[in-house]
Amino acid sequence: MTKKPFITKEQATEIIKQFPTPFHIYDEKGIRENARNLNKAFSWNKGFREYFAVKATPTPAILKILKEEGCGTDCSSYSELLMSKKCGFEAPYIMFSSNDTPSEEFAFAREVGAIINLDDITHIEILEKSCGIPETVCCRYNPGGTFSISTTIMDNPGDAKYGMTKPQIIEAYRQLKEKGVKKFGLHAFLASNTVSNEYYPTLAKILFELAVEVKNETGVEISFINLSGGVGVPYTPDKEPNDIFVIGEGVHKVFDEVLVPAGLGDISIYTELGRYMLAPFGHLVTTAIRKKHIYKEYIGVDACAVNLMRPAMYGAYHHITVLGKENAPCDHKYDITGSLCENNDKFAVDRMLPEIDIGDILVIHDTGAHGFAMGYNYNGKLKSAEILLREDGSILEIRRAETVDDYFATLDGYWDVL
Ligand SMILES: *Cc1c(COP(=O)(O)O)cnc(C)c1O
Repeated sequence: MTKKPFITKEQATEIIKQFPTPFHIYDEKGIRENARNLNKAFSWNKGFREYFAVKATPTPAILKILKEEGCGTDCSSYSELLMSKKCGFEAPYIMFSSNDTPSEEFAFAREVGAIINLDDITHIEILEKSCGIPETVCCRYNPGGTFSISTTIMDNPGDAKYGMTKPQIIEAYRQLKEKGVKKFGLHAFLASNTVSNEYYPTLAKILFELAVEVKNETGVEISFINLSGGVGVPYTPDKEPNDIFVIGEGVHKVFDEVLVPAGLGDISIYTELGRYMLAPFGHLVTTAIRKKHIYKEYIGVDACAVNLMRPAMYGAYHHITVLGKENAPCDHKYDITGSLCENNDKFAVDRMLPEIDIGDILVIHDTGAHGFAMGYNYNGKLKSAEILLREDGSILEIRRAETVDDYFATLDGYWDVL
């Protein structure tokens, strides 16, 4: 497999005349097709809905595209709730899956009509005090231990701060029923960035069996099960991407095996995908500006970890294409670096690439989710613009680049305080 950018060198050169690098660019066509496929893959379930995880790409133009494709939003903070509201999302299209939640945020979530997903049993009382108990409440489950698919350990829920234990969640449903809740949801997020068609079906089985147990023990009938995020994308070109239709059918099969015989065949399936919805449909576009030869070969680009933190933060691999050199032999070994005074500010280490010249345009792949969003301002570096490549091939700026005035804005009135 090879990764092909969704823009050509000619297109990039045109765009750069108007918007200098670095910038993030998103592919509207790809985003829409992918969202439609997800909806189709789960169309066997009447109530299916994707709540896009806003944290992955908190950009109104992107949220609006997903809204047009029938998605809601999944929020975890005041600002994300406010952004959803400003983009026109309303009940029941907003989910609030937060943890360590401030009381004001519970109250605001209720105000905007979000479905509240409780991370902890103690939050029942806090929710009641902050804004009263709504008619619909979701609870987040943590089964503890390790989470495996066949014999492979995928993640470690026992070490994760999220969700409730089984005795707690059963008790939570009892208390919520007592307090008048009419509609109940069940949620869990057990593994991140899974490149396996088995993740959702395996998770679904755990949640479906728990829903049956909850019904038997408390009489509470769950209305929706939220499989949350975690369906991933292959960042490296050697991996096969997930097949959303196989995943949808896998969940369907478990649904028919576990929920239907238990009389729970009306349960709606929800998802809260972030990465899967956006990552492949975003590129960070950057220009090679420096070439350095010491003990290793370095290419300095005009983007840095401020624009894409994943490589610096987790050593994450992001594929790189040198535009116009797609077919050239990868016979040069480079570190591709940004300019931060941090040695981990490298988009690639010891990467085999075509020979790079100053002025070459590089596409860093799969930056559409958890890319721009993780940006920060270390070294006084400014966040880039975001550009949308529309379905008709035209270009639209959907967020301007930060200016130094934005960077100084929180200092207005503080220049003379000492
Ligand atoms: C981060 C997050 C998501 C999205 O995760 P992806 O890995 O981007 O799919 C969904 N739900 C919750 C609660 C999250 O914290």
